[in-house]
Amino acid sequence: LKKYFEQFLKPHQILDGEALTSRTHHIWEPEQPLKAALMVLPENTDQVSKILGWCHQNKQAVVIHGGRTNLVGGTESDDHELIISLEQMNTILEIDAASRTVTVESGVILQNLQEAVQQEKLLFPLNFGAKGSAQLGGIIATNAGGLRVFRYGMTRSLVLGLEVVLADGTVISSLKKIIKDNSGYDLKQLFIGSEGTLGVITKATLRLFETPKFRVSAFVGVNSYTNVISLLKHLDGSMGGTLSGFEVMWPMTYQTLTGPSSRHAPPLPYGFEYYLLCESMGSDPNHQALFEEALDQALNQSLAEEVVMATSSAEHDWFWGIREEVDVMVDKCMYDQHFDISLAPVLIGDYAQKVIRTLSKIELITHCFCFGHLADGNIHLVVGKSDNSAGLSHQINEIVYQPLKELQGSISAEHGIGTHKKAYLQHSKNPSEIALMKTLKQALDPNYILNRGKIID
Ligand SMILES: Cc1cc2nc3c(=O)[nH]c(=O)nc-3n(C[C@H](O)[C@H](O)[C@H](O)COP(=O)(O)OP(=O)(O)OC[C@H]3O[C@@H](n4cnc5c(N)ncnc54)[C@H](O)[C@@H]3O)c2cc1C
Repeated sequence: LKKYFEQFLKPHQILDGEALTSRTHHIWEPEQPLKAALMVLPENTDQVSKILGWCHQNKQAVVIHGGRTNLVGGTESDDHELIISLEQMNTILEIDAASRTVTVESGVILQNLQEAVQQEKLLFPLNFGAKGSAQLGGIIATNAGGLRVFRYGMTRSLVLGLEVVLADGTVISSLKKIIKDNSGYDLKQLFIGSEGTLGVITKATLRLFETPKFRVSAFVGVNSYTNVISLLKHLDGSMGGTLSGFEVMWPMTYQTLTGPSSRHAPPLPYGFEYYLLCESMGSDPNHQALFEEALDQALNQSLAEEVVMATSSAEHDWFWGIREEVDVMVDKCMYDQHFDISLAPVLIGDYAQKVIRTLSKIELITHCFCFGHLADGNIHLVVGKSDNSAGLSHQINEIVYQPLKELQGSISAEHGIGTHKKAYLQHSKNPSEIALMKTLKQALDPNYILNRGKIID
């Protein structure tokens, strides 16, 4: 294996022994040595193509590493697999301010991209807690969502062009800066959200936006789910399409994220049923006044119990820091199980109440944190437990997933399927959809080398 790669990769691009085992498959598992036959770190597309061409011919299984922040076991590997890490392909190739596009290699870290385009007074709106580690290739491969989907869409709606290396080493490149292109099948869509099972993303051209001049945020305490939905409609209507965030936290989540183990004090007192973190971004000089007025009306109409607004950039960081610090919840749990449910927003209140109630009755379950991107119909559950048996995991999965088929929801809103959710795919996709997914996999990766065992068998 190593001999072939030594022909075209430099020594520092091929890792084995301790250099390999000192790495890990996930940023949250620093103690777990990486399992793999070898790891390679290509520096350009041609090298990725040569690596995959050889693996295809030799039926060598491959696992792709981006920033290793996925929450579905997407970067797990075994001792026989070859790992391709895209971390060396981390150049921002072009920021085209006039076309409002950026072209990147896939190993560029999200936060670095955000900061680079900010220098040009432009915005790449994708934003989530793992922005300091997640790479654009991994983000595109998982079609990540995050905190501003309601306004700007998922990753899919931000990708204009892609360069992808297929399993057999063929390079498919279309890095056009155009929004509209109906010249037959939109091939890039195949790879967005394919979790590395159909090809390796090496470059991308992405959409940028003018940066709104004003950003306003507020925490709002609400005491009924009907009012949560009414508040969403009210704020969205009042802010004329500029509402960019509407995050919800159930009480246990809010108390933990602002409690003694957190770096953040609580902006609102404890005791409300729901805590909403709302954000609006716009360029109207009256933007803040408009937001204040909309929140005042919400209080007057009894949609909200209490409101606190962020009035400085330090306060924005405080409010959003609370929402982004998922690790504080994870640290509370001896073992944890993560969920990423999609449902029509009006159905979430009842669904969450029933699931939390059922889970709380199980003695080995210690925590049930519920929070998420409510305007997108997406909530996350972090279930803490004192037992890591497969039986309990399965029982929890059934409680969370079982109602979703009837409610026309999804077992994954934004994190993907990976290995963790594969057994439950039938709750979201019907047999003919799964058969078509297998046909695509067979056509694009006939030797079944890419991210084996992820999403489908
Ligand atoms: C604290 C925290 C908060 C998070 N919040 C959110 C959130 O709000 N919204 C959200 O959607 N996700 C969220 N996530 C999940 C995660 O950040 C995303 O899934 C992210 O998009 C993964 O990017 P990555 O570079 O870390 O990819 P990795 O974890 O390295 O890989 C993800 C998958 O893509 C494959 N892959 C990686 N790079 C490539 C490539 N170049 N070509 C093809 N396949 C590739 C991998 O094999 C794997 O299957 C969060 C994670 C954490 C830890």
